[in-house]
Amino acid sequence: MRQPGRHFLQIPGPSAVPDRILRAIDMPVIDHRGPGFEALGRRVLQGMKGIFKTNQPVIIYPASGTGAWEAALVNVLNPGDRLLMVETGHFASLWKTLAEKIGLQPEIIETDWRRGADPALLEDALRQDASHKIKAVCIVHNETSTGCTSQIANIRQTINNAGHPALLMVDTISGLAAADFRFDEWGVDVAISGSQKGLMLPPGLSFNAVSEKALAASKQSTLSRSYWDWSEMLAANERGYFPYTPATNLLYGLAEAIDMINEEGLDNIFIRHQRHSIATRAAVHAWGLETQCTVDAEHSPVLTAVRTPEGHDADQLRSTILQHYNMSLGNGLSKVQSRVFRIGHLGDLNDLMLMGTLSGIEMGLHLAGVPHNTGGAQSALELLKSTPANIT
Ligand SMILES: *Cc1c(COP(=O)(O)O)cnc(C)c1O
Repeated sequence: MRQPGRHFLQIPGPSAVPDRILRAIDMPVIDHRGPGFEALGRRVLQGMKGIFKTNQPVIIYPASGTGAWEAALVNVLNPGDRLLMVETGHFASLWKTLAEKIGLQPEIIETDWRRGADPALLEDALRQDASHKIKAVCIVHNETSTGCTSQIANIRQTINNAGHPALLMVDTISGLAAADFRFDEWGVDVAISGSQKGLMLPPGLSFNAVSEKALAASKQSTLSRSYWDWSEMLAANERGYFPYTPATNLLYGLAEAIDMINEEGLDNIFIRHQRHSIATRAAVHAWGLETQCTVDAEHSPVLTAVRTPEGHDADQLRSTILQHYNMSLGNGLSKVQSRVFRIGHLGDLNDLMLMGTLSGIEMGLHLAGVPHNTGGAQSALELLKSTPANIT
C-alpha cells in the first residue's frame, strides 16, 4: 500500500540527503581529465580541510568508509606491525578484523560496549610497551553501534604522557560534521570518514586526513597497496585531479554539502547535534528506558542507542514502527542485536523532524506493547522549547 508523506530515515547513517544536495548531484557527468574538472577538484579538496579542521591534505576515495579504514592502515604500516585498539562496539571490532586480514597484529582492550575508550587503560598498555612495538593506536571517535563517543583530545594526551611514538588513527566516519572534531588541534595522525553520515551525502565517498608524521611513515611503509596509495592521489590532487575516475557526481554533492555546512557554521552544527541528543535522552528517560551508553560525558550527539526491557525484542518494535509510521530506526548490531534500537539524529535535522521521530517511537512503543511511561516526546518538546535553537 502507498505510504503517504516522506519516509523518516532515522538510522545513524546513511542519513537523509537534503534536496539541495540531490539537485547538486543531478548534473551531466564531465570529463574528469578535462579543463572543467580542476575547479571542482580543488573546491572539494580544499573544502574538506575545513571540515576536518586541518591544514593537512585530505584524500577522497570513491569507496565506502570501510575502504578508507583499509587505506589508513596500508599506507603507513608494515606487515606484522602491532596496533592498539579498543573494542568500543561493533565498528571497532570490524576494524580490528580488517587489520588482521591485511597482516597486522591488533591488540584489543575490551569494554562492556557502554562507554568510550578509557585513556587510563590505553596509557597502561603504552607504558608496558617499552620497546615501542605498537605502531598505531586506533580509536573509533563515535561508536555508531552503541552511541558512545571517545575523547580523542584526552587520548592524544595519554599517548604523549606515555612518551610513546605510536600514530593516532581515528575513525570519525559517523562523527565528522556532527560531533566536535579537530584534526590539527587534537594531534590526530590519520582520520577516516565517510560521506553518508554527518556530511548528508549518499553513500560512496570516504576520506583520509593525514598528518605530516603519517605522510613520513607512508614513505617507509611496505604493506601492499595500489588503489589506496596516498602518493599517487596526492600527486594528482596537487593539480586538482584524481589518478583514476572519481565519483564525479558525488563530488558535486560534496561541494554543495561543504557550502551548506559553512553557511550554518561547523560549530553551530555541533551545538545543534548536542541539543537534539539531549532532547532525545530526555524522551528516553521519561519513557523509563535505558540508553546503551552509561557515561554522561560520552553520550553521542549523532545517535542514541536505546535498550528495550528484558523480554521485548527491539527488532519487533522497529518493524512495527516501519509498518505503521514509515520510519526506519537503526538495529542492534552483533552483541546487542534485538536488545537495542538506534535513533539517528544526525545530518540535516531540525526540531520538528526530531519531534516527528520521537512521536513515532512513542506511538510504536505503545503499539508493540513495550512497557513504558507516556510523555517522552512531551519531555523532549519541553526541553526544545526552553532552549530554543540559536537562529540568527
Ligand atoms: C558507518 C560506519 C563504518 C562503516 O562505513 P561503511 O561506509 O559502511 O563502510 C565504520 N565505522 C563507523 C563508526 C561507522 O559509523
